[in-house]
Amino acid sequence: MHDKDCIFCKIIRGELPSKKVYEDEQVYAFHDINPVAPVHVLIVPKKHIPSVHHLTPEDEQLVGHMFLVAKQIANELGVAPDENMNKGYRLVFNVGKDAGQTVFHLHLHLIGGRTMSWPPG
Ligand code: AMP
Ligand code: ZN
Repeated sequence: MHDKDCIFCKIIRGELPSKKVYEDEQVYAFHDINPVAPVHVLIVPKKHIPSVHHLTPEDEQLVGHMFLVAKQIANELGVAPDENMNKGYRLVFNVGKDAGQTVFHLHLHLIGGRTMSWPPG
């Protein structure tokens, strides 16, 4: 898919509405439109990358940055684990259709605010 048709590229450009949580030069984060938990935020790179499977070595720093942004948002939204690692949140990249990926612009799900089960469905 070309990025002109990508809904997350449109959100980043402000052509589609979103509830922004965080933004910097490299990433944009916003509340998921269909939250699966009390906290459900998507952290997306401003660069259009279709999935984890399309990452190249030049994206290494960007992906690390996405995790650090997720940690900061988890703190701000009150889902970070305490010193005993009670509470907490889940970080998910769905990669491909069998894994549940529906939007083919890289995004890290930050999901928290409730107890979660394992394994995922
Ligand atoms: P995935 O299934 O991993 O590709 O995740 C895509 C996520 O994007 C889903 O959780 C959707 O609810 C979410 N989503 C789709 N469209 C929008 C939108 N316009 N604004 C916010 N979240 C969206
Ligand atoms: Zn895109």
